[in-house]
Amino acid sequence: MGPEEHAALTAAKARLDRLSFYPRPVALRRTVRILSVPWLFRLPWFSRFDGYTMWDLILLRAPLAQASDDLICHELCHVWQMQHRPLAMPLSYLYRGYASNPYELEARRATASTAGPSGGPG
Ligand SMILES: [Zn+2]
Repeated sequence: MGPEEHAALTAAKARLDRLSFYPRPVALRRTVRILSVPWLFRLPWFSRFDGYTMWDLILLRAPLAQASDDLICHELCHVWQMQHRPLAMPLSYLYRGYASNPYELEARRATASTAGPSGGPG
């Protein structure tokens, strides 16, 4: 893992560690990686997203240097969810859809509630 990737993941984890959505904090294990794959986001299903997470793998449309802290925090929240609900979380997108999916709303809440230069409300 490169230093830029490590820094982005560590910063996002520090935000998520202030939340208690799940019994254990998100684990930045060896398999948690960020990859920039612009071609993927040209495919129909992916074209609406700037980031997409599959278990421990965070896929970005743009190079990491251009990704916002909020985007990495949002996607790492999905890693956290999948570390606790490895089947239920991804399957939920099949029967709950995207927009009102509870895991999606939770990831948005995680990002919004930890945003801001002073660290947000905590
Ligand atoms: Zn999401």
